[in-house]
Amino acid sequence: LSLLMTFGVVSALCYTVATLGTAGIFWCYPAALGFYGLLEERRARAANALMLVTALPLAFTVLETSLALRATATLVCASLFGAIMVRTIERQQEALRRRAETDPLTGLSNRHGLHEALDAAAGSAGRTDGRPALMIVDLDHFKRVNDSHGHAAGDGVLRATGALLAASVRAGERAFRLGGEEFLLLLPGVDQDAALAEARALCATFRDEPVLAERDTTASVGVASLLAGEGRTEWLGRADALLYVAKRGGRDRAVGQGEPAGGEGPPG
Ligand code: GH3
Ligand code: MG
Ligand code: MG
Repeated sequence: LSLLMTFGVVSALCYTVATLGTAGIFWCYPAALGFYGLLEERRARAANALMLVTALPLAFTVLETSLALRATATLVCASLFGAIMVRTIERQQEALRRRAETDPLTGLSNRHGLHEALDAAAGSAGRTDGRPALMIVDLDHFKRVNDSHGHAAGDGVLRATGALLAASVRAGERAFRLGGEEFLLLLPGVDQDAALAEARALCATFRDEPVLAERDTTASVGVASLLAGEGRTEWLGRADALLYVAKRGGRDRAVGQGEPAGGEGPPG
C-alpha cells in the first residue's frame, strides 16, 4: 500500500510540476512532510528521495534555471529537516520504550515485555530441543529485612538480587523483576531436569551472595517447563503454584513439576 501511495503521489507531483510549473513545485513541500508523517522511516526516506530525483530535474525543464535552483535548495533543506526530525523522534521513542520496560531499581526487564517474551518462547517450542522453562524466584522473609534494617537496606538486597540474576543468565535466557521481591527467569528450549538443576544452582548462589547472606536472605524457586498445548497464563500459574510448594516445604529451595512436596532443601 505504501509503495502504491508513493508512486501515486510522486507521479501526481511530476504531472503537477510539468503542467503548473512554479505552482506545482509548491506541492512538493507538503508531500515531503506527508511521507515522513505517514510512512515508516526508511520508506519515507526512499519516497522523499524518489520525489527529489524525479520532480527536481523536471523543474529544470519547465522553470527558469534560477528558480529551479532555488526550488532544489529549499526542497532539499525541507527534506533534510524532515528526515532529521523523524530520526530524533524515533530515537526518543526508543529511549522511552527502553525506560518503560526497565525496572529502575534492578535494571532488569519489568513486566511490560513479559507477555510478549513468554509468547515468543512458547511459539519457539518444538523448534528447539527441550521446552522453554520459567522460574519464579521469590526472596524468603524479605519483609523482615525491611522491618529490621529499613527500606534502604531492602532496596540494597533487591539490587544485589538483580545483579546476581543478570550475571547468572546465559545466552538466550532473560531475567525480569515481576514486582516487589519476585523475579522471573525465562529459559529457552531446555531439558526439564536441566532447568531444575539450574534453579537449584541459583538457590546456592543466593546463599553465597554477600549482601544477601549478610541479611540472611535466601530464595525459593518454582520451575515449570511449558507443557504441550499450554497457554501463558496456565504456565505462569503452575510456576507460581510450585513456588508455593517450595515455600511450604521450608523455603531456600527449588521445586519443579512432579517433585515430592518440599523439593531439595539447602545442604545441612
Ligand atoms: P515469603 O518468604 O513468604 O515470600 O515472605 P516475604 O516477607 O518475602 O513476603 P511478603 O510478601 O510478606 O513481603 C514482601 C515485602 O516486600 C513487602 C514489601 O514491603 C516489600 N517490598 C516490595 N517492593 C519493595 C521495594 O521496591 N523495596 C523494598 N525495600 N521493599 C519492597
Ligand atoms: Mg518473599
Ligand atoms: Mg512475594
